[in-house]
Amino acid sequence: RRADLAAGRTLPAVTRDGQTITLLANVATAEESRAAVAAGADGAGLVRTELTFLTALGWPDEAAHAAALRPVLGPLAGLVATVRTLDFAPDKLPPFLIGRSYPGQPPPEALGAQLRAITAAGAATRLRVMLPMVQSAAQVREARALLPEAVPFGAMVETGAAVEAIDEIAAAADFLSIGTNDLTASLLGLGRLDPALTPARAAEPPVLRAIAATVAARERHGRPVSVCGDAAADPYAIPLLVGVGCRILSVAPSALDAVRAQVRSLDTAECAAAAAAVLA
Ligand code: PEP
Ligand code: MG
Repeated sequence: RRADLAAGRTLPAVTRDGQTITLLANVATAEESRAAVAAGADGAGLVRTELTFLTALGWPDEAAHAAALRPVLGPLAGLVATVRTLDFAPDKLPPFLIGRSYPGQPPPEALGAQLRAITAAGAATRLRVMLPMVQSAAQVREARALLPEAVPFGAMVETGAAVEAIDEIAAAADFLSIGTNDLTASLLGLGRLDPALTPARAAEPPVLRAIAATVAARERHGRPVSVCGDAAADPYAIPLLVGVGCRILSVAPSALDAVRAQVRSLDTAECAAAAAAVLA
């Protein structure tokens, strides 16, 4: 029951065998940030920034980014805030990009404006920045050069190209975050809006194998890997994600209570055996 789950908010997200799972939240509004904090998240593992700008007539400037970000980041003071740069995509495209040879990474001046706004608006948080739809380590290095050195910079792993180049990308980024929504679509050949694309399909062998490879690559470099796609809140996928070594899950604020309760029921050795069976 919802009330029983909410009562568990003060309990740690620890498996039966004592492994801590860090629970972060995916947010895009001030309301979601407040809900995430109220539900006991350690911070935000994904701050989506493009949703404010779906009717924009051009690339937002620094002031527009700052105005959008301040209310979302305010409630996250002192907590992890992982702000993702604009992720316009075919399923979320403002009018000025329709018919252009986009999606891709924004031009440097548009990215620079957003990074300056993020750095200022996130000054009171434990700020991290991440780049969506990464396809190469060069993209990570180029974007990172526009950001102050002190801010950890991460790459989302959500394309087949990123999985191919995972070692180089892992070396170029401070952290990785797996976007299971796009990764599942891409590896299973489904459109992002296809009703057959469900969060649980991230547990199918081609996707789970890619997730396992990502976790292994990042662990070789000793840096954190989180999962921020909807699979991180899916009751079927969670044990398999934990089974391939995922220890940081970022989920919708409304899912935090249920995910914490499920984590507390898991045994990581059982999860590893289940994942090995799927991968075999
Ligand atoms: C994903 O693709 O899994 C993800 C977290 O990003 P978005 O859903 O915003 O594309
Ligand atoms: Mg995505």
